[in-house]
Amino acid sequence: MAVILDGRKVSKEIEEEIKAEVSACTKNGHRPPHLVAVLVGEDGASETYVTAKMKACDEVGFKSSMIRYDATVTEEIILAEVDRLNKEEGVDGYIVQLPLPAHISVEKIIDRIDTTKDVDGFTPANFGKIDQEHHSLLPATPMGIIELLKRYVIKTKGKHCVVVGKSHIVGMPMSILLAGPGDATVTLCHIHTKNLAAHTRQADIIIVAVGKPGLITGNMVKEGAVIVDVGTTRVADSSKKSGFALKGDVDFASVEPKASHITPVPGGVGPMTIASLIMNTMIAYKKRMNL
Ligand code: NAP
Repeated sequence: MAVILDGRKVSKEIEEEIKAEVSACTKNGHRPPHLVAVLVGEDGASETYVTAKMKACDEVGFKSSMIRYDATVTEEIILAEVDRLNKEEGVDGYIVQLPLPAHISVEKIIDRIDTTKDVDGFTPANFGKIDQEHHSLLPATPMGIIELLKRYVIKTKGKHCVVVGKSHIVGMPMSILLAGPGDATVTLCHIHTKNLAAHTRQADIIIVAVGKPGLITGNMVKEGAVIVDVGTTRVADSSKKSGFALKGDVDFASVEPKASHITPVPGGVGPMTIASLIMNTMIAYKKRMNL
C-alpha cells in the first residue's frame, strides 16, 4: 500500500510554523503581513480557491483583503488596480486569481505586478530566477510540491522525474525546479508527446498537471514510483451536496497499488499551493519590513 502524501497535514504544520513567526513579529510591535486577492467574475472554482486562501491567512494571523470585480470589468481598470497595489505600502503580496475573462490579457496583468509582491511567483522576473540560489518568490504550486517531497524525505537528486503538462504556472517551472536545484533527470511531456506511457513507465517520480481525469493509469507506472497529482477537475457527482467532485489526473484505484507514495485529490497538492502562498507572503513581508 502506498504512503499517502498528506498535503492537508503538512500544510497545517507549515501554517503553525508561520503563525508562530507572525506572532513573534506582532509581539515586537510590527503590523501583521497583508495579502490581497483580486477576484474577477463569478467562477465557482476561483471563488472556492480564493476563500480557502483568505481562510489560511486568518489562521496564521495575516491581514487579508479580497477585491472583487464584475466579469465585464475592463483590462484598464484591472491594470490600474495592479498599479495601486504595487504602490500601497501596507500590502506585502497580492494575487490576481486566474482564469481571467477572455478580454483581459493575463500576460499584460502579470507583467505589471511588482515582483516583490508577486506571491504567486508568476512574473517573468521571478520565473527567470527559479533555478538560482538566490531566487526570490517561487511559483506557488511547484514550490508546494517540492516542500511536500522534502517533508516526506523523498530525494530528487539523480532520480528520473517525468512531468506531464508544461503550463507556465505548474509543469514548466516544476521541470526547472527538479532539474536545477533538485538535481533530477527530467522529461517534460505534453499534448504532442508521442507514447506518453513509454515515458511515464521509466519514471521514479511522476508529476501530472494536465486537467484530464484518469489520464495516468496503473499500466503507465512502474512499481515503487512516487506519484504527484496536480490535476483538479470538477466532475458532476449527484451524491455530493455541491453537485460535483474534484478529480485528479491519476486513476487512483489502479495506480495506488503500484506506487510507493501518492498524493490524494483533494488533500494533496491543493493545500500545499495555499501553504506556499502563505510562505511567499511571509518572505515578501520580511523583506519589506527589513526583518
Ligand atoms: P493548462 O495550462 O491547461 O496546461 C495543461 C498542460 O497539459 C498543457 O501543457 C498541455 O499541453 C498538457 N496536456 C493536455 N492534454 C494532455 C495529454 N493528453 N497528455 C499530455 N499532456 C497534455 O493547465 P494548468 O494550469 O497547468 O493546470 C493543470 C491541472 O492542474 C488542472 O486540473 C488545474 O485545475 C490543476 N491545478 C491545480 C493546482 C493545485 O493547487 N492543486 C494548481 C494549479 C493547477 P500543451 O501545452 O502542449 O497544450
